[in-house]
Amino acid sequence: MNIIADLHTHTIASTHAYSTVEEMVTAAKERDLYAIAITDHGRSMPGAPGPYYFESLCLIPKEFRGIRVLKGMEANIIDFEGNIDCEEPLASQLEWIVASMHGNIIKDTPNIEKCTNAYLQLSKNKNVNVIGHSGTVNFKYDYEKVIPELSKNGILIEINNSTFNFKKDSMKNCVEIIKVCKKHKARIVVNTDSHFSTYIGNAEPALNVLKELDFPKELIVNASIETMQSYMKEKNIEI
Ligand SMILES: [Zn+2]
Ligand SMILES: [Zn+2]
Repeated sequence: MNIIADLHTHTIASTHAYSTVEEMVTAAKERDLYAIAITDHGRSMPGAPGPYYFESLCLIPKEFRGIRVLKGMEANIIDFEGNIDCEEPLASQLEWIVASMHGNIIKDTPNIEKCTNAYLQLSKNKNVNVIGHSGTVNFKYDYEKVIPELSKNGILIEINNSTFNFKKDSMKNCVEIIKVCKKHKARIVVNTDSHFSTYIGNAEPALNVLKELDFPKELIVNASIETMQSYMKEKNIEI
């Protein structure tokens, strides 16, 4: 099994990533992907691009070199009320929003109760497609409470491959998240969170863990073009 779309990637616009959109698309083509989502960091992240960058993403063709390019953002969850740094009208214009917690953005000290509240509030945000790398150690939340709510609202839970490569301390939480998603039949996406083109589409470590845990393929939205396109239709995203 492999992924057919990489739905969380960064370009040089994030300033701590090192490939251009064109290089990312070329890498996706080499990997024979159907789609890629360009999700540079929202404004709260140091070095993030400004508003015109996101507003002008529509200049990139819908399909480039045979790859469907989804224009998106990795928005920051900025507080424990579940607010993100991407508002209307931009939020509706973007095709793909990953919402993530980052240790350098939320200054308040996290605990399970606060993080649970943040994700429960966020689950009501219709513009969000994915909860990014939620296995992060410092931001543990009540998986049993939150995951069914996200799932009910069509928000996908990300299994982030870079966790398996670079943040191994989060693995225990990721395994727990996978088990809770399986139990509640919650849909997930497996993404690379690539900050350089060579990582695009290679999610083998994460996929191996999913296989070991006997996770159903039909719940992995980006494991086949059929499940991916049916999610896109559901969310009114052009195919
Ligand atoms: Zn992130
Ligand atoms: Zn990221």
